[in-house]
Amino acid sequence: MKFAAFAALAAKQSLLPYEYEPAAIRPQDVEVQISHCGICHSDLHLIDNDWSSSPYPLVPGHEIVGTVTAAGDRCRLAAGQRVGVGWQRSACFDCEQCRAGDENLCARQEATCVGHMGGFARRIRLDGRFVFPLPESLEAAAAAPLLCAGVTVFAPLRRWGVAAGAQVGVIGIGGLGHLALQFLRAMGCETTAFTSSPDKRAAAERLGARHVVSSTSVREIRANAGRFEFLLCTAPARLDFITYLQTLKPGGILCLVGAPPGLLQIPAAQLLASQRVICGSDIGSRSAIRETLAFAAEHGIAAQVETAPLADVNAALQRVRENRVRYRMVLTN
Ligand SMILES: [Zn+2]
Ligand SMILES: [Zn+2]
Repeated sequence: MKFAAFAALAAKQSLLPYEYEPAAIRPQDVEVQISHCGICHSDLHLIDNDWSSSPYPLVPGHEIVGTVTAAGDRCRLAAGQRVGVGWQRSACFDCEQCRAGDENLCARQEATCVGHMGGFARRIRLDGRFVFPLPESLEAAAAAPLLCAGVTVFAPLRRWGVAAGAQVGVIGIGGLGHLALQFLRAMGCETTAFTSSPDKRAAAERLGARHVVSSTSVREIRANAGRFEFLLCTAPARLDFITYLQTLKPGGILCLVGAPPGLLQIPAAQLLASQRVICGSDIGSRSAIRETLAFAAEHGIAAQVETAPLADVNAALQRVRENRVRYRMVLTN
C-alpha cells in the first residue's frame, strides 16, 4: 500500500500530492496513522533548501501526532496507542552521546523529514524508539508542537537548571516562545517577554510573561540591565546581542534555540568581566521529549494553534511564511 503525502519536488516549490511506497516494517518499527502535524519554520527552510541539505522529493513535517496502526515484534508500542514524533527519527544507540542518553547529539542521527518522508502525510513508518506515547490529557492539535517547538525550549531550561524564582527573558514570541512562557510560568519563574510585535503584548502576558519589552527599543532593553539569570533566544534574527548580554546578571546564560544568520560578534570582555555564557541548544533527547510531554500534561500547557486540513497545506505554509499564525499552524487529517 502506498502512503499519500504532500511533497516539494524542487526547492521553493508549492507542495504537490505525492505517493510513495513505504519501507517494510522492521522489528523495531511502528506505523503511525497521522492525525495532526505542526508546521515548524524548519519545514520552510527544508522546502526552500536554505541549509543546502534538502533531498527532493521532500515530504516535510516533524511535529506529528497520530495512532499506531502496526508495530514490529521488538517494538514496545501497540496498535491503537496515541503517539507523537518529533525532528529525530533515529540514532546509532552506540556512541558516547547515545550511551549518555543524549541521542539528539548523535553524529549518526537521522531527521524525520530529511532523506525520509515526513509528517505532511496520512501515515509514516519509523523506529519506534523515536515514537512517544502521548499523555491522555493532551489534546492532539495542541500537543503536536510540543514534539519540536516544545522540547526545543524545555530541554535547555532543564539542562541549565532554571528554577523557581529565576528572572528569565524570552526573546521572540512565536511557536517556540509562546510555549517557553507557559513552561516558565509553571516552573515559577518571573518571565520577561521580548517581542517586536505590539499586538503580541497582551497574549504574552496571558501566556505567562510578567513583563513585556519591545525588542525594537534599545532603550527598553537596556532598562533591564543586569536582570536575568537566563535568556532564551527563540528569534532566528540578527539581534543586538551585545545589548542583550548586558541584561544578564554575572554568570548569566544566553541560550540560542533559533539560528540568527551570519556571525555572532561579541567583544570578549563582555563574557570575561561578568563570566557570562553564550550557548546553543538543539531539540532534545528522548528523555527530554518524554519529560516535556509529561510536564505539559501535568501543568495544562498547550500550544495555541490554528488548524488547516492537509489538503490546504500550501495556504497554511503561506500563512506561516507571512508570520500571520498565532502561534503554531497544525495540519489535520
Ligand atoms: Zn521543528
Ligand atoms: Zn549515537
